[in-house]
Amino acid sequence: MKVSSTARSYNRVSISPKALRHNFRIIQKKAGVAVLAMVKADGYGHDMARAAEVFAAAGCKTFGVAEIDEAVTLRKAGIRGEILIMLGFMHEHVNLVLQYDLTPVVFRIETAECLANAAVKAGRRIGIHLKVDSGMSRLGLLPEQVDAFLDRMCSLPSLYLAGIVSHFSQADDPDSDNTGKSYDSYTAMCDRINARCDGIRHIANSGGVFNFPETCGDMVRPGISLYGYYPDGEEGRRRAMGEKLLPAMSFTTQVLQVKTVPAGAGVSYGHTYITPAAARLAILPVGYEDGYLRSLSNRGEVLIRGRRAPIRGRICMNMCMADISDIEGVMPGDEVVVLGRQGQELITADEIAAWAGTISYEVLCLIGNNNERTYINEEI
Ligand SMILES: *Cc1c(COP(=O)(O)O)cnc(C)c1O
Repeated sequence: MKVSSTARSYNRVSISPKALRHNFRIIQKKAGVAVLAMVKADGYGHDMARAAEVFAAAGCKTFGVAEIDEAVTLRKAGIRGEILIMLGFMHEHVNLVLQYDLTPVVFRIETAECLANAAVKAGRRIGIHLKVDSGMSRLGLLPEQVDAFLDRMCSLPSLYLAGIVSHFSQADDPDSDNTGKSYDSYTAMCDRINARCDGIRHIANSGGVFNFPETCGDMVRPGISLYGYYPDGEEGRRRAMGEKLLPAMSFTTQVLQVKTVPAGAGVSYGHTYITPAAARLAILPVGYEDGYLRSLSNRGEVLIRGRRAPIRGRICMNMCMADISDIEGVMPGDEVVVLGRQGQELITADEIAAWAGTISYEVLCLIGNNNERTYINEEI
């Protein structure tokens, strides 16, 4: 849990700046173009401001967030690069765009008009990135809406087009032909737009960078890979050639209590686990409030004394039980690794995600954003 007083929680998320830097460099080398670091969702759980600081020190000049409040937070934390607000902004906040020198992604004519008015009043010109939809049916103008937008934008001299954005829906799958189709649709729109005005092209997420490098354009927008994970999970890690990405987050807690229960004991709410024989359990202060999903009930594993201990019964709000029948000498206070390495063993966010039926992205956001975080002091 996240605590704000002077007392600490049993639970601790540790982030390795060395791993973040390593990942940024690998991506930069692989893409060979400018890298926009996606730090939305509080840096995928890695503390947006501190992660952005690490990327900036490694040479990153552009950052991406979802909403304007995150962008203001980054500025206040001293980040000086360009900050793209991927979801645009509510028009009542237009002055914040100017005040904090932010770069909005725009997908409606009305937003362009609102920005143009504010820019005129301030005696400035604002660069925008136009969002187009190349087949995901998410945010952005459809191909047939692009010309009308450009007609209007070109009549607003206080605005200029800085970039053209789209997004892939299946770049995590190297075998899908969807990415090629989406890229062709995007390129056709870009050609039409760039015939009328400049604007850099960027569409590639992590999947684009690693699986479809020909789509890297003028800039890439990796998220998950910066934090050490491949968009297609362990499959991607196996396939990766050369230096591999390094997971930056680990999550540790400690044993609260150790007890031996007899055969036939029901464990946790609903007794969804009944011990087949006498069992030794470690009670852990980790639950779904800490981002350890309830769907990990009877599925998850944690590391204690360098060994894997399976979760028994339901995950509670603030606790869960691990079976330590096969692990000698476990004591209250022993370190437990929920995510990360202990001795020779390693639990990755991909492994937790597979147990819970989700993806590493969600595991990192939930664990990172619901616990105290520490950046490890290490030689960089
Ligand atoms: C989140 C996001 C990204 C990064 O995607 P990853 O799969 O994490 O690399 C890039 N672009 C947009 C628009 C996004 O929303």
